[in-house]
Amino acid sequence: MFFHRNNDDDPRPSGGARPLPLLPLRDIIVFPHMVVPLFVGRERSINALEEAMSHDKEILLAAQRKAKTNDPAPEDIFPVGTIGKIIQLLRLPDGTVKVLVEGAERARIRRFLPNEDFFLCEVEEVVEPSIVGVEIDALLRSVKNTFEAYVKLNKRIPPEMLVTIQTIGDPSRLADTLVVHLSSIKLDDRQSVLETLNPTKRLERLLELMNAEIEILQVEKKIRSRVKKQMEKSQKEYYLNEQMQAIQKELGEKDEFKSELEEIEERLAKKSLPREALSQVKKELKKLKMMQPMSAEAAVIRNYIDWVLCLPWSETSEPTQDLLEAQRILDEDHYGLKKPKERILEYLAVQTLVEKNQGPVLCLVGPPGVGKTSLAKSIARATGREFVRLSLGGVRDEAEIRGHRRTYIGALPGRLIQSLKRCGTNNPVFLLDEVDKMSSDFRGDPAAALLEVLDPEQNASFSDHYLDLDYDLSDVMFITTANTLNGIPIPLQDRLEIIELSSYTDFEKLNIAMRYLIPRQLEAAGLTPSEASRAADAASAALLDDDSPRATDAPIAQTTTAAMTTPEQPIEFTEAAVRAIIHHYTRESGVRSLERQIGGICRKIARKVVEQRSLVQQGEANADKHGPASGLEAGMPRTIEREDVPVYLGVPKFLPEKLHDRDEVGLTNGLAYTSYGGTLLECEVAIVPGKGKLVITGLLEKGMQESAQAAMSYIRSRQRVLGLDEDFYHKIDCHVHFPEFVPKDGPSAGVTMATSIASALLKIPVRRNVAMTGEITLRGRVMPIGGLKEKLLAAHRAGIDTVLVPAENRKDLRDVPTRVLSELRIVLVEHTDQVLREALSVSDPDALFGDSREAPLEYRDGKLYTPTRAASEDEDVPEPTVDAPGARQ
Ligand code: ADP
Repeated sequence: MFFHRNNDDDPRPSGGARPLPLLPLRDIIVFPHMVVPLFVGRERSINALEEAMSHDKEILLAAQRKAKTNDPAPEDIFPVGTIGKIIQLLRLPDGTVKVLVEGAERARIRRFLPNEDFFLCEVEEVVEPSIVGVEIDALLRSVKNTFEAYVKLNKRIPPEMLVTIQTIGDPSRLADTLVVHLSSIKLDDRQSVLETLNPTKRLERLLELMNAEIEILQVEKKIRSRVKKQMEKSQKEYYLNEQMQAIQKELGEKDEFKSELEEIEERLAKKSLPREALSQVKKELKKLKMMQPMSAEAAVIRNYIDWVLCLPWSETSEPTQDLLEAQRILDEDHYGLKKPKERILEYLAVQTLVEKNQGPVLCLVGPPGVGKTSLAKSIARATGREFVRLSLGGVRDEAEIRGHRRTYIGALPGRLIQSLKRCGTNNPVFLLDEVDKMSSDFRGDPAAALLEVLDPEQNASFSDHYLDLDYDLSDVMFITTANTLNGIPIPLQDRLEIIELSSYTDFEKLNIAMRYLIPRQLEAAGLTPSEASRAADAASAALLDDDSPRATDAPIAQTTTAAMTTPEQPIEFTEAAVRAIIHHYTRESGVRSLERQIGGICRKIARKVVEQRSLVQQGEANADKHGPASGLEAGMPRTIEREDVPVYLGVPKFLPEKLHDRDEVGLTNGLAYTSYGGTLLECEVAIVPGKGKLVITGLLEKGMQESAQAAMSYIRSRQRVLGLDEDFYHKIDCHVHFPEFVPKDGPSAGVTMATSIASALLKIPVRRNVAMTGEITLRGRVMPIGGLKEKLLAAHRAGIDTVLVPAENRKDLRDVPTRVLSELRIVLVEHTDQVLREALSVSDPDALFGDSREAPLEYRDGKLYTPTRAASEDEDVPEPTVDAPGARQ
């Protein structure tokens, strides 16, 4: 149906305005020079088209303010639009119309004319101002450049557009052409461009819109490329994984994971696990099966399962309970150590009877190198258990014992569980070394964890953080070691049965070296065929058999010759050589350094042997060839003499302690106890004119200053007895000095200082062959000291005749080897007066001190003498020391 405009009442206005039918547009704005196809469905719109077709095919194209409005009123339509020329009109079968229109020029709606069938309005064409000039050229250029950048980012615009755009010189046309291509501009913005009549302003607005678009596009591009990269990465990984699997399949490895799972199942079936552990492993295995074999989580689970399956849950070694055999092994591995061995055997006996590791845990306490670790190893051998060692020195984190929870990356079980895995049985001898060297900080207290480990009540269900399962430690035989008791946390001490191992005497060292260290080092250096060394060992053990430390008094000469004349033993160390090593190259309580020095000599000899052998092979040596069977080539040293030692070990590191040549005023021999044993500690005193100052110098331990003051005060209190002036103290300064650089264990030089001071004040020399030890009180009482055995050994070594010892230390004489005891005169002093009587070189002490004080008890030749009686056999002699009287050489 066609509607015709009634020409009679054509309200065509005068003055450039004319009536035109209006096609309201949804969502599109048609610009001049733009050709667009439109689909028209609304009846009023079709009528408007009909009307236009019946005239000059012109129609006003103006947009609706809201696209959704179906039946727009005049106010719903923007007042500015474009007059369009209909190029083609096509009726579609569904009654709608497809129309191709071309925008001609801008026009403004003056008013709507009354018409029922379609919108008819009075339209006024808009005349645009024409603009020329440099400014507009520049604007044109920059708009074109910006558009070019825009095209580069927006792939939807065909690049030919750029060529078309370059040819457009008219600013208005350029703006109208470009705006069409800015697809993402909002309808309102487009309309505003249409309504901007001034071409310059329109271009500027367009520039603005384009720049905003470019910015958005750039951000979009960045995001896109990032996403793409991520996609590519995961795709790549996926692809590579797939490829790897394909390759594995080709190689027949595809089923590796499957076979790994099968292997785990198999191991699981064979392993006898506690119920809790079994269900845990099964759970983890189930999880593993559902995972990507190469994923990180799978690795964590695999690791966990492996740990649980490798741990000895029920694997045990059959412990032997033969106590005699145990004793034999302990004796075979160690020289001396009678007391510790006895204690160990008692301990083993109790364990055997109660059939469980119960009660306190053994703790071997002693300086380094005295055989704590090797004793523990022997216990393992003697009881038929495996041996594991875990050093706790420097452990400050509880997690080192208990492990980290599995949630941490790279988590592992604690060192305890790790060691058990390594040993492979659940009832080893477990040596916890250096329990006194643990420390605690904010990461927890390792001692607390250790308490749980060592407590038989609790350790049946020890829980490691990593395993998160209870592990039964009750069959493990724990042994601990420490250098000093002080360092062991008190709650831990409660659980321990302390066995003290003290320093070795030179004699013991000599024996250990001869019987154990030398054969072992020779063998380690390849200098003796192992059978030969064993034969030598056996021979020496048979000949030197003595299970008491007292038997060390047996003549050494016999010992050494016996050991060294074993025909198979190719290299021999003389006793004098070993003594030289002990005295001049080591200073220690144990024998570790001694073993190292012997090892050093053996290695040097080994080198010589090899060099000699090459010489022989080259024919340069014409020596008599004995062949390598003897382990040595001709011309090689077979006996290491005392003189050879410096050749191998260089200049002696320690000079022997020597007494000064004569009795001196103010110079006294003290005795000190250091970490490597006892030593002489000289104390010098000089009295100079002054004002009563007391100066003390040298390497001092804490408390020595106070000791010196006490000593001085005591001397002042005895001023009258000693025959000193009443105000002697005001006119002098007293300088006490310890010239030797000796780290000392605790102050016990009180009496030494008092003697030196008295000697210096009285100008009476101190006997050079007297040494002393003891703390002093203000009243002159002599207080007991520690390390008596070591101190007496040192005095003996240095050639001292008489040692003044606090009377209260009498009980400690039991531990002193008879050999040493019998060669010293030991005076048990209670008071410093007694010390001065003994030490000061005066012909008639009674003249100086009066005879009021009781003379002290003393030991001579290992026997007790009282001042009144001569050698009394029935006196209370410390029991073990009289084992081998008369052994003095
Ligand atoms: P510790 O653990 O006390 O520091 P070790 O047990 O490591 O000392 O001993 C050091 C070395 O000395 C070891 O080779 C050990 O065999 C040896 N040793 C120590 N004491 C004796 C001894 N009484 N008899 C034989 N060898 C000993």
